[in-house]
Amino acid sequence: MSEREDLVLAYRILAAHGVVDAYGHVSLRTAKNPERYLLARAMAPELVTTDDILEFDLDSNPIRDPRVALYLERYIHGEIFKSRPDINAVVHNHSPSVIPFGVTTVPLRPLFNTGAFIGEGVPTFEIRDFQDSGDLIIKTPHLGHSLATTLGAKPAALMRGHGAVVVGESLMLAVVRSVYLELSAKLQMQAMLIAGPGGNIVYLDEREVAATSGRQASAGTWKRTWDLWCIKARAQIEIEQKAKRRKSPSPAGGGSERRRRPGVG
Ligand SMILES: [Zn+2]
Repeated sequence: MSEREDLVLAYRILAAHGVVDAYGHVSLRTAKNPERYLLARAMAPELVTTDDILEFDLDSNPIRDPRVALYLERYIHGEIFKSRPDINAVVHNHSPSVIPFGVTTVPLRPLFNTGAFIGEGVPTFEIRDFQDSGDLIIKTPHLGHSLATTLGAKPAALMRGHGAVVVGESLMLAVVRSVYLELSAKLQMQAMLIAGPGGNIVYLDEREVAATSGRQASAGTWKRTWDLWCIKARAQIEIEQKAKRRKSPSPAGGGSERRRRPGVG
């Protein structure tokens, strides 16, 4: 699998889990050149194919004139890659269950196994601290840098009234964390509802967070999850490609139809 194919799968997986809808994006630092990253052109994540993936420098300028619209918020990716050399993938989303925790003083806390990383800390970015314009979009390098500063060394940050950024040393980790951040926020709201005002909820303590995260990293826990999600995403892409071929058959008749590699849009 190429980096572009992996990134397409990441877009599809995030969409399939409701972490992104028509908005949101995911990027991957290139292995060949750590000063560059891959990101789709401005489009709905669920429709991204390898043909839509573009290369950027860390100032978020496209390497080649793309002649297509770019994500206004691409500075999120470039500025985080600049400030976090340990990070190779960045997800920006408007993950619905996460939003309430960005607009209240209720902190997201780790409450189940696969959401243990939340115990490492999830700060909230308050855009009012960095601009006066009133627009919530991260549309300048300054705002991207400010968000990266708020994120610091953490695995994720909430963006008040907007969404979240989630990062990982690998694409797999950034995607897995994004899916479980959404699920954990949902479960925490349910636990708070059941417990009632002031009711007791038992969250993971520091020792449990460290032990669980450590085991997940060393045991390669996420590979099973990632492989499953990739199989489903590839199957969906193949269905779309077959439907497209049925709609536009080759003018020369069946036999000369150009073959495309599975997983490539
Ligand atoms: Zn956004």
